[in-house]
Amino acid sequence: MQLKTELLQLKGVGDKIQERLTSAGLNTVEDLIDYYPKRYDDYSVITPIKNIDIGKVSLKVKLSQIGSRRTRRGLSLTEAVAEDDTGKVKIVWFNQPYRAKSINPSKQYLLSGEYAFQSGRLQIVNPNIELDEEVDHVQTGRIVPIYTERGQLNSVILRKLVKQIQPLMQSLPETLPRWLIDKYNLISYGAACANIHLPQSIELLEQARKRLGFEELFVLMMASSQIHIQSLRAKALPVAFSQDVATEFVKNLPFKMTDAQRKCVWQIYKDIDSDEPMNRLIEGDVGSGKTVVAAMASLMVAHAGLQVALLAPTELLARQHADTLAKLLAHSPLKNKIGLLTGSLKSAPKKLILDKLKNNHLSIVVGTHALLQESVDWHKLGMIIVDEQHRFGVGQRQKLVLKAGHMPHVLCLTATPIPRSLALTVYGDLDIGILDQVPSQKAGVDTEIVSPNSFAQMFKIIEAELKAGRQAYVVCPLISESEALQATSAEKLYAELSARELKNWKVGLLHGRLKADQKDEVMQKFIKHQLDVIVSTTVIEVGVDVANATVMAIYSADRFGLAQLHQLRGRVGRAEHRGKCFLVMSDSSAPSRRILAISQTNDGFKLAEMDLKLRGPGAIYGTRQHGVLDLRIAELTDTKLIAECRAAVKDFAQNNENLLKYPQIAAKVAKASKLTYLN
Ligand code: ADP
Ligand code: MG
Repeated sequence: MQLKTELLQLKGVGDKIQERLTSAGLNTVEDLIDYYPKRYDDYSVITPIKNIDIGKVSLKVKLSQIGSRRTRRGLSLTEAVAEDDTGKVKIVWFNQPYRAKSINPSKQYLLSGEYAFQSGRLQIVNPNIELDEEVDHVQTGRIVPIYTERGQLNSVILRKLVKQIQPLMQSLPETLPRWLIDKYNLISYGAACANIHLPQSIELLEQARKRLGFEELFVLMMASSQIHIQSLRAKALPVAFSQDVATEFVKNLPFKMTDAQRKCVWQIYKDIDSDEPMNRLIEGDVGSGKTVVAAMASLMVAHAGLQVALLAPTELLARQHADTLAKLLAHSPLKNKIGLLTGSLKSAPKKLILDKLKNNHLSIVVGTHALLQESVDWHKLGMIIVDEQHRFGVGQRQKLVLKAGHMPHVLCLTATPIPRSLALTVYGDLDIGILDQVPSQKAGVDTEIVSPNSFAQMFKIIEAELKAGRQAYVVCPLISESEALQATSAEKLYAELSARELKNWKVGLLHGRLKADQKDEVMQKFIKHQLDVIVSTTVIEVGVDVANATVMAIYSADRFGLAQLHQLRGRVGRAEHRGKCFLVMSDSSAPSRRILAISQTNDGFKLAEMDLKLRGPGAIYGTRQHGVLDLRIAELTDTKLIAECRAAVKDFAQNNENLLKYPQIAAKVAKASKLTYLN
């Protein structure tokens, strides 16, 4: 057996199981090794029946009085009595009719499960059993791994398979250098893999977690440091600072810049006045005014005769950015040198833009992914600005770099604050600027939790706002990742509300399945206040800026991530009127801590930290839904481990030969370098 051996070769894997494995993304032994359990149940202590307590129990018993029947509701019910020298206890299995046939009443079994009060009596429900005479139990009498169950693939199946590959896991070759393992007191890679799946003890499980978490962070940090080293090697085109240009811009702004904005811009000007490429991330909560910072940066680059590419995650946002930039730069000679390039552009106007770009008639081009296409030829690309950077991949950015011939300065803007521990881990030496002030004009948002049977009150408040001349968003539930389903539910909600609660108002519908020009039309109507309300999917999540919109109702708010909810509600209360955000729950059960948290604070950075704590290891604020970066073992709250890894990366990087010497690490580092967040 080898890492690449197909799981089909394992005992007990027929066509049916294989299908389940495949649909869960598990094809080879290696895939299975990488599929870590999400948690464990400790069934390692066998208790005499007379001593058992409510909760998880492990018994060594004989089973008798085995029988199967159907309940009134049509469920199959298998019952048995378990007995040891000290007593008896009732066992029940639901929908596992095969149990009755497979039990041999003359044999001893290990049995592990939950002892609970159910259907009016104390019994053990759906326990796992294994013959006592078998060696290496995996379902009972030990620390038992619980896997994330995908589709029909359950932990019982996975444990049987993992047991078969245990010898292979134990003999896996070492992946880290010996001296690192010794220095940081780690167990071998093989032992770590074996114990993460089938822990021999709590201590070994802890050590396995430490070892694998260490490696995970180590690889990530190595990748980040490699990217940094590479980017330093490439040269950028320096942008000379002009005081006059900056002063002129500020003079024409309709508002006073915040100190935070000023500081950020100043940092950027310093960074780009050098042939060392800038790689800066600006973190600023929704409404902190990142666009002005981007505009000022663009202005200086364009003034130096170079071009700027501004990448936005959606077409809607690209349009809005182009409009905003045109307004902000209305007094500068650049005002006619701003272009918009999106996927929906027809071929003639598109060609015009491309020609202008090539001939340097355009200085700033705003666009979506279309900006990254091969056909785009820059005259001299000096800077790339990426709005909401988590939506763009490193690979895509790399393409632009290759085309430009030199390394453009890179400025990323994000409203998804990244906890400091994460930033240090994955960004390594990336420079971070923080916009921690929200401009004084911004009124803020009150957030209120609404249970599904108190709509009436909510719509009273929405109507009052509409009557006062304000506008509203109704955001439709996140049913699934599928855009088709979301669009359907938005349509349904739109129809319902237009017929009932909002029948006296002009309501528009916006979702991702509309064509770009249709979306644009709806948005334009909303901006011009020809619509009072927009019923929308999360397409309005990022960056949409309509100052007169003051209320938002988010349906099934409990299905959204914290980051997303915070982004969404950032669409209201953006100007002088205070915003109101209703989080409508999908049922009347008590709101989760996540929902409570978001109703209690408007501070995106605080929410980020809280999210990290609430969701625990691995889940990183705002990234999970994009599947960008998922630490599976390491906890970003584990500062000791992070510090150790940072030291280890330093040790390792001291010798340039090390990556050549350890090709396995090199391969993992190369893979990690492709993660969006590492740039
Ligand atoms: P975000 O950081 O969420 O992208 P925007 O750049 O869209 O925020 O800015 C939000 C709103 O605040 C815009 O309407 C913008 O014109 C306004 N704004 C930006 N900076 C200031 C400021 N210093 N004072 C007042 N209003 C500002
Ligand atoms: Mg923005």
